[in-house]
Amino acid sequence: MKKKILFLCVAVILLISVLFAVQIVNNNVTMRSGKGAYYPVVTVLKKGADVVILEDGESWKKVKINDGKSGWVASNAFKKVQGTIDYGMMANDISDKKASTTLVTAAVKGFFESKMSDKSLNKDILQHPRKNYVIPSKYLEFKRNTYNGRWSEKKYRRKYKISKPKPFIIDESLFVVSAYVAAKFAADGVTTNLRKLNYVNNIAQLIAENTEYYDLPICVHVIESDKLFVNSLPIGVIVISEGLLKECKNESELACLIGHEISHITLQHGSTEAGKRKVKLKAEDAFAEFDKEFGTDTKEMDEISNEMYERSIKGRKEKYEMEADKMGLIYAYRAGYDVRGLTNVMRRLESQMPKSRDITKATHWFPYSFKNRINSLDKFIREEFKDRDEYKKFEARFNRNIR
Ligand SMILES: [Zn+2]
Repeated sequence: MKKKILFLCVAVILLISVLFAVQIVNNNVTMRSGKGAYYPVVTVLKKGADVVILEDGESWKKVKINDGKSGWVASNAFKKVQGTIDYGMMANDISDKKASTTLVTAAVKGFFESKMSDKSLNKDILQHPRKNYVIPSKYLEFKRNTYNGRWSEKKYRRKYKISKPKPFIIDESLFVVSAYVAAKFAADGVTTNLRKLNYVNNIAQLIAENTEYYDLPICVHVIESDKLFVNSLPIGVIVISEGLLKECKNESELACLIGHEISHITLQHGSTEAGKRKVKLKAEDAFAEFDKEFGTDTKEMDEISNEMYERSIKGRKEKYEMEADKMGLIYAYRAGYDVRGLTNVMRRLESQMPKSRDITKATHWFPYSFKNRINSLDKFIREEFKDRDEYKKFEARFNRNIR
């Protein structure tokens, strides 16, 4: 009798799990070994893949796939957006593989190979634009310290609601163009100071988790340069100079700058600009077909990458900068940071703006419209962020890790 009941129970459970098999709505969804974009990738799921939900959660769900593997996927993967969220190559953990070997289309490969002989580029970043600088256990400890004796993470998030994610697509040509621009910014070398790298990346991870694309993998390279710049590429890569890190006085200032850069990514400024003139290169295009149409001519991609680099140096349109300023503050606020960090650091930078405006130098990241931006932000901060006493600067922690 007992056996019969047990058998029935197993049968019912099996039936329920079959009934509760759900489909992945977006393409190139990452299944990870833990609840966070910083955990190793188990596999990448295509649109329409059937999964069984083992553990339901608000942001992350534990799922099992057909071959028996299990892992965590973001709840975003099940939500229909107007288009689709497709992180493309970012979904895969390619930090230990060369970007060139993962690229398939001829023009993209041609572009990549032509850049390998360019002496003004950081070859390592060109080949490995994304690296994992976040150590899960260390990051969780960082988060515990961040909210210790304060409101909970969730309470901070509830203080400022943001809208649902919009379509987001990164294709391989955008990936390789981004790798090129990152490599150009990293020409002076990337720091190997792990304490500093972990710290800066922990901040970026915390900000990213408070965006609508909380499953977007983010990576920050610290560049050994005295020039003042911070920039982001559409593939979730941020480059920040040692010079600019030294200009920051506390963690909230750095968090706001990173928030601004992450906003350029989530608001898709870079990909919108590139997309306007981009040839439609799709990873699934057959090789032969592709060669017939475009050959291995890399002219178009050369132009896009030069434009992307130029725009990064000069600053984008004022409209885009102001959008990123505000969105960046919202993200930083949701993470629990003092949002006046941005205007404080901008005021100091403005007073130091070099007299000459040689646009070929990366020293001029901060664009001409600084005054307008600061004024507009002061007003935005007064109107939007009321509970300022509960928000922190983290000066001591910053000094411990950056100085
Ligand atoms: Zn910007």
